[in-house]
Amino acid sequence: MANVVSIAAAAASLPWDVEAVRADFPALAQLVNGHPLVYLDNAATAQKPRAVLAALENYYQRDCANIHRSVHQLGERATEAYERARRTAQAFLGAAEPREIVFTRGTTEAINLVAATYGAANLRAGDEILLTGMEHHSNIVPWQLLAERTGARVKVAQVNDRGEVEMEEFERQLSPRTRIAAFGHISNALGTVNPVAEWTERAHAAGAVVLVDGAQSAPHLPIHLSALGCDFFAFSGHKVFGPTGIGVLWGRAELLEAMPPYQGGGDMIASVSFERTTYNRIPYKFEAGTPHIAGAIGLGAALEYLQTLGMARAAAYEQDLASYGAERLAALPGVRMIGQARERTAVFSLVVEGVHPHDVATVLDTEGIAVRAGHHCAQPIMDRFGVPATTRASLAFYNTRGEVDRLAEGLEKVRRIFQC
Ligand code: PMP
Repeated sequence: MANVVSIAAAAASLPWDVEAVRADFPALAQLVNGHPLVYLDNAATAQKPRAVLAALENYYQRDCANIHRSVHQLGERATEAYERARRTAQAFLGAAEPREIVFTRGTTEAINLVAATYGAANLRAGDEILLTGMEHHSNIVPWQLLAERTGARVKVAQVNDRGEVEMEEFERQLSPRTRIAAFGHISNALGTVNPVAEWTERAHAAGAVVLVDGAQSAPHLPIHLSALGCDFFAFSGHKVFGPTGIGVLWGRAELLEAMPPYQGGGDMIASVSFERTTYNRIPYKFEAGTPHIAGAIGLGAALEYLQTLGMARAAAYEQDLASYGAERLAALPGVRMIGQARERTAVFSLVVEGVHPHDVATVLDTEGIAVRAGHHCAQPIMDRFGVPATTRASLAFYNTRGEVDRLAEGLEKVRRIFQC
């Protein structure tokens, strides 16, 4: 897994022309409430580069047709573009084969797919599913549904005061009954980078299959599946600078092959009769119906864009922003940051003493600064820190130190307005 030291080394050797990168994202160049936009809600969804917008337009203007079943030119072009996006996702993750890439609606659907198919086929009453205390609801509720259906039990590795799960705690919660361990690579609420390779090793030793929720890591770290060692990995297109409504489930071929289908319908079958239906080979077995063709093509364009930029360089630049931001915000009186993990990304979950997070976000919006206020679909970790919600600023490689300063000034204005 990329760590802060190796990322910092990459940063030192390669300059990052942030203004050139920003020029690729038209949405960043707008005024909001009379101020240049400062977009700090990247953990919720990221802005899109021109390459993605062009890929979407090209599909709808030139190649718009259904895939896998048309012999005409447009159908062939659409199919080729869709399958090329699959190969791009394979390369982006370092997966062994394109057939291990399943297009889904996003991380949420990818996790639901694994719970509903692998989980339902393999879990029995008394089995255990291990999660951590910092999971997104998308990596909690599908497992609770599975537990209800099978009689399995959800166990939770608890988070310490810094916002980390310690290895001893993780190991303590593992047992010979653990069938699945599912955890986020990076917490969307705290920015904690989890040691997923080490956790995976421990979970495998206990006999569990491992799913990594990569919704927050795929946009911010270079991903090498072989280094992570997991069995399933999920991420969302819209957070990796691609379209909404598309995402990826990667799974080991032998697991995907053994899993029952998820949804039934067109494309996922080999043959259908009222007596007996047989299923298509992977990944098509899991892609019932007409998929989000434009979305997959747009996602492919986003991943190609990221590969051209270089994920290690982007991560190195973001690491610098993370350190700068942490220092700048820590210096503000009355502002507290939830989550102080030793390995973290540029996500700042803030509490302004005496001011409701929604009020903080509303004042920042009047300054053209977009942040998120709420529980970030991670209520258990909010409970853990004893807050109902936080104001979250989440950065990407197109943000600048100047924008961090604008955030800090905005927070000072909040305190002036609320006189706290
Ligand atoms: N997991 C994590 C860690 C996330 O941050 C998110 C989105 N906030 C999800 C899962 C769900 O992603 P999506 O809504 O794109 O399916």
